[in-house]
Amino acid sequence: MANIGYIQVVRHCNHFCGFCSNPTTPYVHTFDTMKVLVDDLVKRGYFGVILTGGEPTLHPELPRIAAYASAQGLHVRMITNGSRLADPEFARSLGEAGVRLVHVSVYSVRPDVEAILRGAEGTLEKAFAAVRNAHDNGIEVNINCVINKLNADHLDENIDHWIEHHPYVRHFVWNNLDPSMGRAEVNQAQFTPRLSDFEVSLQRAMRKLHASGRTFRVEKVPLCYMTEFAWASTETRKIVKGEERIVHFLDNKQTVRQTDWEHIYAPACAHCTLRPICGGLFDRGAAYDPEELYPVFVSLDAVVETIITDPSDPSYPLRTLPAWKKDFEERLAAARRGEDAPRASVEEMRPPDAPPVGMVTEKGLKLFEAKRKSETKKAESLGVSMERVDVAVPDDGSNGI
Ligand code: SF4
Repeated sequence: MANIGYIQVVRHCNHFCGFCSNPTTPYVHTFDTMKVLVDDLVKRGYFGVILTGGEPTLHPELPRIAAYASAQGLHVRMITNGSRLADPEFARSLGEAGVRLVHVSVYSVRPDVEAILRGAEGTLEKAFAAVRNAHDNGIEVNINCVINKLNADHLDENIDHWIEHHPYVRHFVWNNLDPSMGRAEVNQAQFTPRLSDFEVSLQRAMRKLHASGRTFRVEKVPLCYMTEFAWASTETRKIVKGEERIVHFLDNKQTVRQTDWEHIYAPACAHCTLRPICGGLFDRGAAYDPEELYPVFVSLDAVVETIITDPSDPSYPLRTLPAWKKDFEERLAAARRGEDAPRASVEEMRPPDAPPVGMVTEKGLKLFEAKRKSETKKAESLGVSMERVDVAVPDDGSNGI
């Protein structure tokens, strides 16, 4: 898959997940501030854009920015909880706007577990309706699932449901919980799984999908916990192909160009044959245990070959192992020389005269304060903690305050 940019179009949401890593901020986007980011991705030759949030469907101009991005030639995708897509008319409007693919996020097909994780009742039926509506309007549907402590033991049960009731869904994405940001950071003990919690159910789930001809990707899971399907690791695919990812956060982080995964390795990794293409252990938030890593002894070449010969990515040019090895060695040598260090890359991504990502307006601040009050009540009733507030505003005078 060629490069894809992420734009957070809003940062509020109509659900209240206890492990949300991108909770409400006072930043808002207009069509014009989003257009700048879309134009930049086009200029960089990116293949597509993923509109995300918060819950992106809550932005009144979502169909308009989707239509604009689509008209510029970007493959337009969206990550959503599906609540608004449950409305057939809204699904139709997004299909007409050129949204090609939606990642509908569902954590568990057990209604009681989903309700706890979402902090809201009745979300599961809406997500199922959203999946059907998107499909009916010609939008491809992927299912996204954050692996966490409460669903870790039944990832395969989720897959059984999708295969039986929504056979047209052909691609699945698992993201292991990011415990470093937002509410996920302050509620680590409640939601962060141990790797061994999901090892068996993830393995079963991947086998079921693979056997049925479906595809999948897995993020933030070290290869020793998905060795049989190492080629499906998002980090590994990007390491193998030298891809990057740009995320335009609608908060103080602003623009982040991800080429360095900030993952760590254990001493045992030195003996592992997959070490050169493994993303290692997600380290931000320090919630995962390096003691859980163990070396594996399988063919690195076989994993690489599966990735570089994947016909679903026609844009990748190096299709033979010798060509890939030469390129990979050159990239490693450049990294050792300190070239393309992440810091320099971010600067390149955000030159000093770049406009800020989104705006903080007085209205946005008022909405943020109101939302935070209501969410604090919600958090109390659910027994979870609210995220730390980090809302410093860029002082360049460009944010309309
Ligand atoms: S032992 Fe280390 S390098 Fe090997 S698969 Fe596990 S995390 Fe990756």
